[in-house]
Amino acid sequence: MTEEHAIDPWRMAVKQLEKVGEVLDIDENIMKILKHPIRIVETNFPVVMDDGRVEIFTGFRVHHNENLPNKGGIRFSPHVTREEVMALAFWMTFKCAIVGLPYSGAKGGVICNPREMSLKEIEKVTRRYTHQMINVFNPRSDIPAPDINTSAREMAWIYDTYSMWGGHSALGVVTGKPVELGGSLGRAAATGRGVYFVTRQAMKRLGIEMEGATVAVQGFGNVGSWFARIIAENGAKVVGVSDWKGGIYNENGFDVEDLYKYVYENPDNSDRSVVGYQHSTKDITNDELFALEVDVLAPCAVESVITKYNAHTVKAKIVAEGANGPTTPGADEILKDNNVLVLPDILANAGGVTVSYFEWVQGNDALFWTEEEVNSKLEEIMVRAFDKIFDHADECCINDMRLSAYTVALETIVKQYELRGIYP
Ligand code: GLU
Repeated sequence: MTEEHAIDPWRMAVKQLEKVGEVLDIDENIMKILKHPIRIVETNFPVVMDDGRVEIFTGFRVHHNENLPNKGGIRFSPHVTREEVMALAFWMTFKCAIVGLPYSGAKGGVICNPREMSLKEIEKVTRRYTHQMINVFNPRSDIPAPDINTSAREMAWIYDTYSMWGGHSALGVVTGKPVELGGSLGRAAATGRGVYFVTRQAMKRLGIEMEGATVAVQGFGNVGSWFARIIAENGAKVVGVSDWKGGIYNENGFDVEDLYKYVYENPDNSDRSVVGYQHSTKDITNDELFALEVDVLAPCAVESVITKYNAHTVKAKIVAEGANGPTTPGADEILKDNNVLVLPDILANAGGVTVSYFEWVQGNDALFWTEEEVNSKLEEIMVRAFDKIFDHADECCINDMRLSAYTVALETIVKQYELRGIYP
C-alpha cells in the first residue's frame, strides 16, 4: 500500500488545516487547540450474538471542541478507527461553521460489519453503544445523527434507549429519527439535496446547462442515491454509478428512480448493489467511473478515494464531495492544476446536518414544519454558503474551494475562541 493510500483521515484533516495556516495568519495557540480534539471516548462492550457467542465491539465518540453543543453522526463500519472518527468530528466543526449552525463538531463510530449481522444483532449493538454513551449524548450538548450504515432505524433505537434511561422522551437527543418519532420531513434526502444545490450553483457559475449534463456518482447509499435522483429529476443524465461491489454505465443516462427500486425495493438484491442492473450497457470499476468524461463527478461513499495516483484521470469539470474526505491533499493539488472545480465536503455535504439542525429545533419546540419549508430553508442556506465560498475563492485562492471554505469557516471558529476565551 502506498503512502497516500495509507494516509489516515486525521493526518489528512490536519494537513488541510496546516495549508490554511500557511495562507492565513491564524493565532498559533488556536491552531494548536484545533489540532487536538477535546474529548475522545472509547468503549469496548460485549454483545450476545444470535449463536450465543459473546462478541466485543469497540465504539468511539469524539468531540472536536466544545464552543457550542456537539453535533455529528455515528457510523457502523469495519473500517472505523479512532483517527477516522477524530477527523470526521473535526470536519463537522468546519461544516457547521460554514452553514452557520450553532454547533461544534462530533462524530461516533462502532467497528462492526452490519452486512454480516442480523437485524437483532444490529439493534443490540446500537442500544448497547448508546448505553455506553449515556452520559455523553445529551439534547443540550451532544446530538448524534445517521452516517454510513446507520439510518432512521438506528436513530429510533438511540432515541428509545436514551429516553427509557432518562424516564422521559428526549426528542432533541438525536436527529435523523423516523418522522413518526419526531424526525423532520426532508431529513432523509437532505444531504443529497444539499449536494445538488451546490452543484447546481457551481454549474451556473461555470456556464454548464443542467439539462443533459452528464453525472457520475460513486456510492449509492443515502447520499449518492438521493443526489442522483434529484439531479436526474432536474434534467441531468446520470451515466455512471458505482458502489462497493462494482459499477454500471449507460451513456444515455439511467432512469434513476428505476435503478433506486432495483437496489432498494427488490428482495432478490439482498446486497443492495447497483451491480446486475439490466439497463447497464457496460460494467465499470470504481476507477473507470472516476475517469469518465462527465460534467460532474460525485464521490458519495468513503474517504481517500481520489488520491494522487488517480486524480490525473479525472475528466469531470466539477467534483462534488458528497462523502467526507474523499479527496486526499495530494489529489487536491492535481485537480486544482487541471482546473477541476472541487466542491469540498465541508460545504457540499452540509445539507444533512443543516436539516438535522432543523429537526432539533422542531423537536425542542415540538412544532413541525412542512417539507416545502424544510427544503426551501435548506436551499437558502446552501446557496448562501456556496456563494460566499465561491466569491471568496476569487479573492483568496482561485479554483481552491477547499481553502476558501476553510478560510470562511475559520473566521467564525476563531471568533468563537476569542469571544469565549480559554477557561478558566
Ligand atoms: N453524518 C452526517 C454528516 O457527516 C450528518 C451529521 C448530522 O446530521 O449531525 O454530515
